[in-house]
Amino acid sequence: MALGSGLQLRSEAAAAIHAMQQAAAAEGVDLQVLSGFRSIDLQRSLFFDVKAERNQDAHTRAKVSAPPGYSEHSTGYAVDLGDGGQPSTNLSQNFENTPAYQWLSRHAGRYHFSLSFPKGNQQGVSYEPWHWRFEGSSDALRLFEPAQRLVP
Ligand SMILES: [Zn+2]
Repeated sequence: MALGSGLQLRSEAAAAIHAMQQAAAAEGVDLQVLSGFRSIDLQRSLFFDVKAERNQDAHTRAKVSAPPGYSEHSTGYAVDLGDGGQPSTNLSQNFENTPAYQWLSRHAGRYHFSLSFPKGNQQGVSYEPWHWRFEGSSDALRLFEPAQRLVP
C-alpha cells in the first residue's frame, strides 16, 4: 500500500500510521513518515557499499545498518518517523526531544507500534528513536523474528 511520495508499507501498518498521524495532528503534532519499505536490493547497497566506503567490517556496519535480509524495513512493517515541525532532528538521536517522539512514547502502543532499538538494546544496534515497527499482526511478528535473532 502506498503512503504517498513513493513510500510503501503493508496495508495494516499503513492504516495504523494514518490513524496515528490523525490523532497526533489533533494534538498539534506533525508526525511524518520518512521511510517505509526498502527492498533487499536497496538494503544490500546500504549495507555493503557504505561498509566499503567507510572501510568497516560487517560487525561495525551492522550496528547502524542491518545486513540485507535482516532489515526490519524489508518486512514492510517498519517506519522511520520524524517531526514535521523540526526536520533538523530527522534520523538523529535529537528526535527524542521533539513533540512527535513524546507523542509516540505516550500513544504508539495503542496503534501496535513499538520502538525497535531502544537505548541499550540486546542486539547492540545503536539507539534509533525514529525507527518504529508494527506489531499488530502475527505476520508482522513472524517477519521480525530473523531481525531479532541477529546479534551483531
Ligand atoms: Zn529505520
